[in-house]
Amino acid sequence: MDTGRQQPHVIVLGGGFGGVGTAVNLRDAGVDVTLVDRNDYHTFQPLLYQVATDLLETSAVGHPLRDLFRDHARATVHSGEVTDIDLDAHQVSFAARAPMTYDYLVIALGAQATFFGVEGAAEHAFPLYTLADAVRLRSHIVETWEAADRDPSLIDDGALNIAIVGGGPTGVESAGAAAELYRHVFVEDYPDVTPDQARIVLLEAGPDLLSMFRSDIRAYARRALTDRGVEVRTGEVVAKVEPTQVTWKSGEIIRTRTLIWGAGLVANPLVKTLGVDLQRGDRVPTEPDLSLAGHPEVFVVGDVSWTTVEGSDRALPQLGSVALQAGEHAAHSIAKQVAGQPTEPFRYHDKGTMATIGRGAAVAQTHGGRTLKGRTAWLAWGAVHLALLSTGEDRAKAVVDWTWAGFSHERSGRISVRTDKP
Ligand SMILES: Cc1cc2nc3c(=O)[nH]c(=O)nc-3n(C[C@H](O)[C@H](O)[C@H](O)COP(=O)(O)OP(=O)(O)OC[C@H]3O[C@@H](n4cnc5c(N)ncnc54)[C@H](O)[C@@H]3O)c2cc1C
Repeated sequence: MDTGRQQPHVIVLGGGFGGVGTAVNLRDAGVDVTLVDRNDYHTFQPLLYQVATDLLETSAVGHPLRDLFRDHARATVHSGEVTDIDLDAHQVSFAARAPMTYDYLVIALGAQATFFGVEGAAEHAFPLYTLADAVRLRSHIVETWEAADRDPSLIDDGALNIAIVGGGPTGVESAGAAAELYRHVFVEDYPDVTPDQARIVLLEAGPDLLSMFRSDIRAYARRALTDRGVEVRTGEVVAKVEPTQVTWKSGEIIRTRTLIWGAGLVANPLVKTLGVDLQRGDRVPTEPDLSLAGHPEVFVVGDVSWTTVEGSDRALPQLGSVALQAGEHAAHSIAKQVAGQPTEPFRYHDKGTMATIGRGAAVAQTHGGRTLKGRTAWLAWGAVHLALLSTGEDRAKAVVDWTWAGFSHERSGRISVRTDKP
């Protein structure tokens, strides 16, 4: 236990939806809070594909963590890489800062892309899970088009093609956004390139896109993407990724230097050091109140956790809304323990799922199974995501960027800035 503190010390590991949701809700819990993330910003992952396709600037999707806790007198924010969690000693170690001890610990370290052992995927594919991923992809796309402008033989070699793996929301949204970038912006920037020289291919292993949605939505999504010039291929699996081509399991080869990977997640590798039996995707199983079995002072929330739906062995999905609500619940559980009261089980309030395909095209499905498609769903999607962005400033930036892009198809972020010294 920490000495010299007047109040119990809560360490929150991770400043994503789960970590921020916890720390913000500990304000009146009578505890000192230390939140640590490897970055000094919170990332709004649902809009990363908009950064990657120049629709939003980085500062609309990444927000300074310190800013979020300015009026939280007992909260401290540090950037640091967590390297070890010692549950017995109640201690967390970091790469370049002194270890810290805790009275309560919240593990909200998220997940990362997994490549399922596909040859070459880890080296050559572009995952879309962090702000750095999105910026890297954006620069790569812009630089590839400029390189092809200098050397048109690259176009014949398929350099401008994009392949996207995964027909879930990340893949569908990325494909739709890439189509808008290619068919509305680059078509003006590079008028000599024809659409068949810059293909966008979306690949899904299962029989359909957006498998978690009802069939009318799945059909609409496929149609909306196809109308936007995306080639949708289902029942196909990637076998091998090389710098300039991707080979499907069927043997078909597509020439491309850009494979966006939206296919799978695995929990943060640090959880392997906890010494607990992990669930599918290396997720950490929790008790109903989100604590770790045998450690009532440790809570696990968000993508890193495996929390089952009451009365079933089905786990809650890895979604921002789940992470945010779980963080809030962990904070309330800690407050109850501090006050000497029993904790309660976590109940997720499912408000539905959404995905956007492009301007005026989105899909939404409520918990009860009601569906929305097209412009109405798109407006609803915009309203929900604006409400979720962390601050008024981020919302204003997103509104300006979306509105401007909506009217003009303009994307002013499509420049590549070289940072190497001349
Ligand atoms: C492209 C994309 C689109 C999505 N769209 C939606 C959507 O439309 N709706 C929805 O509800 N959900 C969506 N999600 C899912 C949602 O973003 C995640 O479920 C949510 O971010 C999980 O929150 P978390 O706090 O568990 O993890 P994260 O948000 O990933 O936060 C984990 C934090 O831990 C930090 N961290 C990791 N390792 C270390 C370490 N060793 N040391 C220090 N810090 C570390 C990271 O920097 C990060 O800030 C999307 C996800 C992606 C990738």
